[in-house]
Amino acid sequence: MTERRLEPGRLVVASHNKGKLKEINELLEPFGFDVVSAGDLGLPEPVEDGETFEANAEIKALAAAKASGLPALADDSGFCVNALMGDPGVYSARWAGPGKDFSVAMQKVEDKLQALGATDRGCYFVAVLCVAWPDGHTQFYRGEVHGDAVWPPRGLEGFGYDPMFLPEGFDRTFGEMDQASKQRLADGTALSHRAKAFDLFKSECL
Ligand code: IMP
Repeated sequence: MTERRLEPGRLVVASHNKGKLKEINELLEPFGFDVVSAGDLGLPEPVEDGETFEANAEIKALAAAKASGLPALADDSGFCVNALMGDPGVYSARWAGPGKDFSVAMQKVEDKLQALGATDRGCYFVAVLCVAWPDGHTQFYRGEVHGDAVWPPRGLEGFGYDPMFLPEGFDRTFGEMDQASKQRLADGTALSHRAKAFDLFKSECL
């Protein structure tokens, strides 16, 4: 199927997360989009029961596009550990438990690596953006950043699994980087999974 570009106009951002909404709004503003969130339109949050990042991003984007009659953008992301066959992956948020405590989630990753006696500490973050149109057409943009899982966690910046993620070629974990350094290098090259997915989306869809 032919790849489409988004025409400037109304676009639904299918996220109820304020931080993500702000980030996506800032990205889209210079391109002349009138961004409205799924929450503002009173759209219900669909159940994210997909087994891949693509499936979950598509569930959110398609639900919003069909309900609103407008193109919609959604994202899904997570932390994957090679020795754990990609876990926690799409279950990254769930590993933090009902208290959303990521020290618990990071400890769980470390305990599983220890139990396996894993020498491979390779891991990566994934972000997938999905754009959906009301006729059901969807397009995907995926970003990954690879590195090693360190223990104990280091740094108080960022969120989620950042303190245990040491990106390849760096001596600071994402938890030790401020927001701007986590996203991009000094020359503007994308570092984070999210910045990489955004750059692809920008060059291929805007
Ligand atoms: P979701 O995309 O909102 O479903 O996020 C899934 C989970 O992945 C988050 O709750 C975090 O635990 C984890 N995650 C995604 N991106 C990052 C990141 O940049 N740093 C740390 N954790 C992340």
